[in-house]
Amino acid sequence: MGGMRVRGWRSTMWMKRAILLICLLCIGIFPVTSFAQTSGPVYIVQPGDTLYLIAQRFGTSVEELASINGIMDPSVIVPGSELVIPGFEGVSGVLDFHELEFGESISSLSLQLGVPPDSLIKLNRILHPGRLYIGQAVIVTSVSDEVSSPTLKVLLVEEGENKLTFAARNSVNPWDVNSLMDRLNRAWIVRNERIVVSGEETLLHGLPLPIKSVDVEPERVIQGQTLEVIITLQESVDISARMGDRQLAFHTLYENQLVSLQGVFALVHPGMYDLVIEVLDAQREESKFSHTQPIRVVDGEYYYDPVLYVPDETVDSEMIKLEDEVIYSIVNQITDERYWQGIFQFPTSYTDSFPSYFGSRRNYNNQGYNWYHTGLDLYGGVGTPIFAPASGRVVYTGFLDARGNVTYIDHGWGVFTGYLHQSAIEVTIGDWVKTGQQIGLVGATGRVTGPHLHWEIWVGGIPVDPLEWTSEEFP
Ligand SMILES: [Zn+2]
Repeated sequence: MGGMRVRGWRSTMWMKRAILLICLLCIGIFPVTSFAQTSGPVYIVQPGDTLYLIAQRFGTSVEELASINGIMDPSVIVPGSELVIPGFEGVSGVLDFHELEFGESISSLSLQLGVPPDSLIKLNRILHPGRLYIGQAVIVTSVSDEVSSPTLKVLLVEEGENKLTFAARNSVNPWDVNSLMDRLNRAWIVRNERIVVSGEETLLHGLPLPIKSVDVEPERVIQGQTLEVIITLQESVDISARMGDRQLAFHTLYENQLVSLQGVFALVHPGMYDLVIEVLDAQREESKFSHTQPIRVVDGEYYYDPVLYVPDETVDSEMIKLEDEVIYSIVNQITDERYWQGIFQFPTSYTDSFPSYFGSRRNYNNQGYNWYHTGLDLYGGVGTPIFAPASGRVVYTGFLDARGNVTYIDHGWGVFTGYLHQSAIEVTIGDWVKTGQQIGLVGATGRVTGPHLHWEIWVGGIPVDPLEWTSEEFP
């Protein structure tokens, strides 16, 4: 909402300036072309671009861009038109953006584009070339269509190899290896080091085979949402991965394609978190290769509920801790099989508005905003039917003091759903349920102020926003 306000303010400012310009034009003092700068690199406006967005990405201002390019109305830019970008002295040609994928680095981009690494570093004013994050928009000078960019081959140095034996094993020119080492100011190669050479196999990143690609979705993950990592391999190998301090569990999506789904804690601090992917040896003891790249976790901008006053024992007691332990032990199990397909259905028929959303920050008894709402609340009087949102197996039913009558369903691959405060539970542990099957009735059991369904989705042991799963298909 803040951004909208800024944009509105800018456009009125610009209207004033545009009026001023038109007045000056009337008396013929400044022809409009005199504002246009002719030298410097250009950017070709893409559909959906705004001047504000372009200015932000190139580290300049709307005012400067408009003045250099003689734009009178900054709210109107035409896709396909060329904009001169200020601030890149000595650079010519067409500038573009490349969103960094896991495994890409300045050196792999440099080979791919045929642009020296130093130029890319300068172009992007990069201070730490080793800490480029997933989804980072790297400014590149685009290669013309006729020139085919070289393909990359990433080779891994094995134990006991030197430059010569390494070159021989991989059938590459030893002089290429030599010149690469020269650039690194080093005469030797080390075990598990990645050597990027031009090859016939097309790889778009700097990871060694057998990793063909690593897709991370989304590139910037929001607090309380689901991170999806898909690894495509050339051959079957053991993979170990973690995000921050959380170990990721992988499941087979297709042959030689692995997927991991992991919830990101709603109260985690926004910032950079390392995604580490390792290829393990056959004994799963030693890492043959490891790559670390930061991923951005951004603020979910969740609401802050007013301070809630409840009996002390309902927020901080041994009973509550024991109850939480019961739930954690259920949702931290991982079934290496998937039972669901497609997007999740809503568990009641009230799907337009909700009494309380996932993620809202909560402060009990004025102890600070240390809690948050772990599910989505749905309307429904006592006796409103509850339906399974997806196929799965019932793994827990029972009465808990705070949660009331609860049911938990395992949907496989570490995905669970929970139904709290029910008036009746209509399934038993071990039951298989199908999408849309009635599993219970809405109620007001446990510590509640009135009847409603509190619905939770847990992914990899962390609650996520159910509205994400009712609108998007995983994987
Ligand atoms: Zn709730």
